[in-house]
Amino acid sequence: MEDKLVPVTSVASGMDQMFASDIHCLTIQVVNVCFVGSKENNHDWVLVDAGMPKSAERIKEAAAEIYGENSRPKAIILTHGHFDHVGAVEELVQEWDVPVYAHELEMPYLSGEKDYPEPDTSVEGGLVAKMSRMFPNEGIDLGEHVQSLPEDNTVPYMEGWKWVHTPGHTEGHVSLFREEDGALLAGDAFITVKQEDLVKVLTQKQEISGPPRYLTTDWDQAWKSVHRLRSLNPKLAVTGHGFPMTGENLKSNLEKLDNEFEQIAIPDHGRFVNRKE
Ligand SMILES: [Zn+2]
Ligand SMILES: [Zn+2]
Repeated sequence: MEDKLVPVTSVASGMDQMFASDIHCLTIQVVNVCFVGSKENNHDWVLVDAGMPKSAERIKEAAAEIYGENSRPKAIILTHGHFDHVGAVEELVQEWDVPVYAHELEMPYLSGEKDYPEPDTSVEGGLVAKMSRMFPNEGIDLGEHVQSLPEDNTVPYMEGWKWVHTPGHTEGHVSLFREEDGALLAGDAFITVKQEDLVKVLTQKQEISGPPRYLTTDWDQAWKSVHRLRSLNPKLAVTGHGFPMTGENLKSNLEKLDNEFEQIAIPDHGRFVNRKE
């Protein structure tokens, strides 16, 4: 499996050179982690999400590639606690000894108190929904390393960024937004790859989807969250799965997803689906 580390500017064709030049995106199998902070200021960066299990080495290599040998972040920010976003976090925290931040509603899943509900394998979504029965749903225990994001919506060590509560996929899901250039790190609030293609790295076609179906527990909230993100008018979105999306493409796709959320995102049936007939 080939991993890719790209500066987000390189995929954002036609954009201003300075635009989001401090965001790097590493794709590990099918999930993205972000490094936020400029190369030049290599003591001042943050890791957003922590990839698949067993990916700590790859994340450290990428960090060294961007910021130099043995560079460590100021903190790790988690959009939510699903296994494919926290896979390496316990190992990285041990190694780096840095604080981890997440929304307070996500805390029970990060401090060993609660497990996520079992994935809903009955939703349509192709192979990945069927495979999801093998996905771990257990919460992890970061003990005193994890703390709640500040109530004033600032993001520790990420100047100019605000966290936005975007529940639905999980209760405490957050997205990160920087007003100045319209950069959005959306986590799994929406994704830019077709649900069916989620598992196939090589064929990942860009197409906006709602949050991954098999793990989303509240569709009303998920819709409201997409609406909230759309109203921020982002210029660039790095999502938990799929390639970064920018400009007009992002704008029109996000509008479509919001307007047609029931058709595009919500499964026709499933354990967490409560359709009004
Ligand atoms: Zn997720
Ligand atoms: Zn995910």
